[in-house]
Amino acid sequence: MFCGEREAQVNVSPQDPTSQHVMGLLQEAADLMRQDRLPEGIERAQEALSLAESARADVLTALAQFQLADLYRYIPRSLDAFQLLTQAVSTFRRANHPRLPRAIAVQGLILGDLGDHTAALDLYREALSYFTAFPEHADRTQEAFCYGALGVACTHLGEFDQAEAAYLRAMTVYEEAGNWVTVCHLWNNIVIVRTRALARDQAHGLPTGHLIEQAEAYLHRAEDLNARLVQSAFVTAVLCNSWGDLYALTGAYDLAVPQIQQALTIYRGLQLPRGEVDALTNLGEVELKQGQVEEAIGSFLQAQELVAHHELRDHERKLVELQAQAYEASGQFEQALAYQKRLHTMTFDLQQRETQKKLQRLAVQAEIERVQREAQQVRQQNEALSAQNHALQEKSQTLDRLAHQDALTGLANRRAFEEWEAGLPTPLRPNFALAVVDIDHFKRVNDTFSHAVGDDVLKQVAGLLRSGVREGDLVARFGGEEFVVVFQDLASSGLEERAEQLRARVEAHLWREMHAGLQVTISVGVAAAYEGATVQALFEQADGRLYVAKRGGRNRVVWN
Ligand code: GH3
Ligand code: MG
Ligand code: MG
Repeated sequence: MFCGEREAQVNVSPQDPTSQHVMGLLQEAADLMRQDRLPEGIERAQEALSLAESARADVLTALAQFQLADLYRYIPRSLDAFQLLTQAVSTFRRANHPRLPRAIAVQGLILGDLGDHTAALDLYREALSYFTAFPEHADRTQEAFCYGALGVACTHLGEFDQAEAAYLRAMTVYEEAGNWVTVCHLWNNIVIVRTRALARDQAHGLPTGHLIEQAEAYLHRAEDLNARLVQSAFVTAVLCNSWGDLYALTGAYDLAVPQIQQALTIYRGLQLPRGEVDALTNLGEVELKQGQVEEAIGSFLQAQELVAHHELRDHERKLVELQAQAYEASGQFEQALAYQKRLHTMTFDLQQRETQKKLQRLAVQAEIERVQREAQQVRQQNEALSAQNHALQEKSQTLDRLAHQDALTGLANRRAFEEWEAGLPTPLRPNFALAVVDIDHFKRVNDTFSHAVGDDVLKQVAGLLRSGVREGDLVARFGGEEFVVVFQDLASSGLEERAEQLRARVEAHLWREMHAGLQVTISVGVAAAYEGATVQALFEQADGRLYVAKRGGRNRVVWN
């Protein structure tokens, strides 16, 4: 019903000889498929697949799976086709490959072949959502192909408005591309939608005039296009058949017959037995309705010969049923009975085939569920892995912090200071300065008040230093009761004042609240950057001044 587009070749690293070979085989397979030489096409695609697999080329493998599946679809080996596509889809998905939506759409076609139009519809919608999600991949012809397929599924499901909307969307693309053959077929598909809607409304006794008018207008449009831009005999035949259907439905049998006869002549000329059988069946049906029983029997017999000769089993049942009716109408009851019996066996066969189809459909469904389950498992594994990763990351962050932080005071430790120092620009910025701070007579604190009080004092001094400097400054505990304070942006003129503030802060703290009789002071040696200074040199200078401060009586700052 829907005549889609052949897609453009997809390039995969054309310089690589294996790729070239595989792509060449796939091209041949596609060409053979177009010529209806399926077994040869399958051979080529299989060869391409095993080559791609042994080269461990994922995307090439998926492309070969896709091509082979497309061929299997026609034999039909639906389940094999579906399985191949499932693998291809998962590769395309991983590689974010532009063939992804097309592969999903073909999965939909398979489900449609198996009669599961609802599931097919879901897949077409999924395929279409990729074009929206990845506009960079939006090959409009592919998108239009999906809309065409969506239209077919909706027609089967009786969603006529949606079917028509889908066909119209596809049509704009084909019109832009100047693909008028497909445009004609799409108009015809819309006519089929209208004719189905017409049959439905007629059965419900609803008015149908508008539907007839629209269908006629669309057929005229398609005929006009065909005459001006396409000039395809096949399109003419397809349109004649649609005219015949429409006229027959509205009871205009004398108009229907010549249309169907014209279609018949064209199909014969083109040697398209399927079309011939369709036309003969339609013709006989109209003749039967007109009471021309003998003519009807003749048409049906002709059709039956073709069906037997070309093994067109899907056309057989309707034909036998009509023929039984025709014989009954003509009073040839023995013949009618024979055909009824045949119909009975066929119905039985058909039921068996339907069961077969249903089983296949279930297998496909199981396949879908399996894939979904696997995807779910992979997703869960990924989640677990990322949780693990997260935990590991947190752990390493914790370890990192512990390695660089002084456990008692929470300040940076000596290692952190050294790593930080290694990252400083050389030469040092002129506003760089540092202070070495040491608690006075700390041994006495421990001895007089206990080691625990000593610890509290260390924490408190650390806090006072930390809150006494600016955001970008650094306070580190160097060991014992010795600290280093780095001023990152301090003119040397301000250095004495800032160091003095720190000293005064410690002295002014209400230590006796921590313990009766407790008083704590610090001594500070400072050094400001000078030309050619290193951190090490400044540290030694400040440490020397700290020693001077201690000797000078403690609780003081020495800056030169
Ligand atoms: P000065 O004024 O000359 O610096 O005298 P001081 O007593 O502070 O210097 P000294 O180096 O003689 O003593 C430092 C003491 O600090 C010795 C050590 O027991 C104590 N100390 C080092 N680390 C800690 C600690 O983490 N907690 C406590 N409570 N005491 C510590
Ligand atoms: Mg000390
Ligand atoms: Mg000390």
